[in-house]
Amino acid sequence: MSELPDYMKVLIKEEEKPSYVYKEIPVPQPGNGELLVKVLKVSICGSDNILYQWDEAAKAIAMLPFIPGHECVGEVVKVGPDCEGKFFIGQRICCENHFYCGKCYQCLHDLRHICQNLNQFGHGRGTIYGGCAQYTIIPARYCYQLKTNLDVDRACLLEPFGVAHQAMEEVCPTGDSVLIQGCGPIGLISAGIAKSMGAVKIIATDIVEERLQKAKQMGADVLVNGKMENLKDIVMKETSGDGIGCLVECSGAAPLVNNCFSLLRKGGRVVLVGLLKKPLHVENFLQDILFKSLTMKTVHGRKIFSTWEKSEELLFNDKVDVTPVITHEVPMSQFEQVRQLAPPFDFLCYG
Ligand SMILES: [Zn+2]
Ligand SMILES: [Zn+2]
Repeated sequence: MSELPDYMKVLIKEEEKPSYVYKEIPVPQPGNGELLVKVLKVSICGSDNILYQWDEAAKAIAMLPFIPGHECVGEVVKVGPDCEGKFFIGQRICCENHFYCGKCYQCLHDLRHICQNLNQFGHGRGTIYGGCAQYTIIPARYCYQLKTNLDVDRACLLEPFGVAHQAMEEVCPTGDSVLIQGCGPIGLISAGIAKSMGAVKIIATDIVEERLQKAKQMGADVLVNGKMENLKDIVMKETSGDGIGCLVECSGAAPLVNNCFSLLRKGGRVVLVGLLKKPLHVENFLQDILFKSLTMKTVHGRKIFSTWEKSEELLFNDKVDVTPVITHEVPMSQFEQVRQLAPPFDFLCYG
């Protein structure tokens, strides 16, 4: 333990302006029920960019100061009082970034991921610590203990993977046609999981050609560039006029979200994942929703920790190959230069 340094490098947000500052701060000590974790890798989420910008959306979900980065994998280097016996030094963990309260209705009914009093790791709510640091403090109860020796690149993608995994479990794509709207990391991973679950035809749509090519690598059969092609015409043609059985909305783009119901087959299933920031507007409620007897689900986070376990198993057994999703790998000190790449890319930071 004595080999722990006194200071560590972090990215930190301290001011109300677009910025993250790369600097040194003291290595913290774990308190009651906490672990000191050496961060091995962190993957950058679209929300890390929103937080960087510090617009109204960011202010609503975060509190200064904080260290960003909630998709991280690390190794326990110091165990605080009250968690001895459950965690050990050298253990590899991922952070469940939905910090639940443990007391509300949802927490008492095995729905901790949608806790009413949710705090989030890497958002300065409940803790200033996050993953963009050489070391971080994580309460032990939010640590997922890796069960396999899954490599760190894939392990740090478990958090977004779990969101996609839960989305796919909500709509059961096995043996059915699937439409993925939006091919960012969550949409791409959803395509891979749908394929592994036995979807028969996967249609993917985006407006960035490079993302569509990645969707193809992840298992999409039909690619639709929404800038040049009519999505509804293609969906109807590919489903013999029935409409899509399963729809995964990951774009959060108002025109796509608003129109998605019209693409569904009667009795179809839709899961909303993308963050729509405008009011939902459905032109033809009776024809597109009510008379269709649809199933609609929404997803926020992943089940604690059952989705983590199933996701790790899928990745460890190579049922889904996430390499197309990882596009860049950079040291934390160069975050500023590559920040503008995300989205449409997902990349990993280290050191
Ligand atoms: Zn995220
Ligand atoms: Zn709760």
